[in-house]
Amino acid sequence: ELILAFESSCDETSVAVIKNGNEILSNIIATQINSHKRFGGVVPEVASRHHVEQITTVVDMALKEAGVDYDQLDAVAVTYGPGLVGALLIGVTAAKAIAFAHDLPLIPINHMAGHIYAARFVKPLQYPLLALVVSGGHTELVYMPAAGEFEIIGDTRDDAAGEAYDKIGRVLNIPYPAGKEVDRLAHLGQDTFHFPRAMAASDDLDFSFSGLKSAFINTVHHADQIGEQLSREDLAASFQAAVVDVLVEKTLHALQAYPVAQLVVAGGVAANQGLREALTAALATSAPAVELIVPPLRLCGDNAAMIGACAHIELAKKHFADERLNADPGLNFAHA
Ligand code: ATP
Ligand code: MG
Ligand code: FE
Repeated sequence: ELILAFESSCDETSVAVIKNGNEILSNIIATQINSHKRFGGVVPEVASRHHVEQITTVVDMALKEAGVDYDQLDAVAVTYGPGLVGALLIGVTAAKAIAFAHDLPLIPINHMAGHIYAARFVKPLQYPLLALVVSGGHTELVYMPAAGEFEIIGDTRDDAAGEAYDKIGRVLNIPYPAGKEVDRLAHLGQDTFHFPRAMAASDDLDFSFSGLKSAFINTVHHADQIGEQLSREDLAASFQAAVVDVLVEKTLHALQAYPVAQLVVAGGVAANQGLREALTAALATSAPAVELIVPPLRLCGDNAAMIGACAHIELAKKHFADERLNADPGLNFAHA
């Protein structure tokens, strides 16, 4: 079974060919980061224009690298939300055109479901499972009773974890997206600032990162005003320690309330070394045992391979769309 998958929800134009839901024949990712860097974030109009310019080439590259022709495909899959509406529409339109020109089923995929299914390239998933989804726009604990079924059991009340990384990165003059560089600096410093761990002790499974962000920015501004030089490494280490503490704490709470055999960590922030280390350590002593599944680094950020892995589940269920498929920028899983 071969699926041609599209991803264009934000600032990566990506097309992949996926075999049987777990084998990557190709996964081309054209990133636009350099065009957005000078604006300090993703500019929607710039993103749409890049997707239009890139998509045909990226499709050709994906098929060529996979050594696959249109007539060998079984389905076309595409991210239809959440994301930037103009960006999503480019992928949706391209996927529709190919699906109908070649008489193939069209499979609509939720981008966040895709992030979770990046774990499928590591090993088979066992349900029920729990996913910690940490990305540029989302911070969610997701319970999956079965394949392709998602319930939000914890959510951020304000900023997403990746968004907080990018915002404090700005204060440290780190170009967008700042997560990777803050992570690197954090490993060179110590948690000397003891920033607040918001909601760590609350009974629910929700998160909040805006207080931490404000505390960080105030600390840096105050030091600037009095002409004090703070250690960037210690600032990064202190910020990361606060984020990771809360993510680990809430995940452990969730595992108590929802016993599962596997924990999947997904989204761009799943690339964070500090988070990976802390979750590995926390689960090493957990009883009953929980297996940690973290996708390889290149599959944590946005890519079409993860969309193809998720589409394999939807193809079996024959969850198809017709030519009326539209982008849904606010698409979300249901809350439990
Ligand atoms: P969403 O998936 O919620 O729609 P998105 O697609 O923009 O948002 P992703 O591409 O999944 O987000 O992830 C990008 C985010 O991951 C950025 O905020 C980036 O700073 C963050 N990130 C990447 N690497 C790391 C890292 N090592 N540590 C922390 N954050 C990181
Ligand atoms: Mg991106
Ligand atoms: Fe994403």
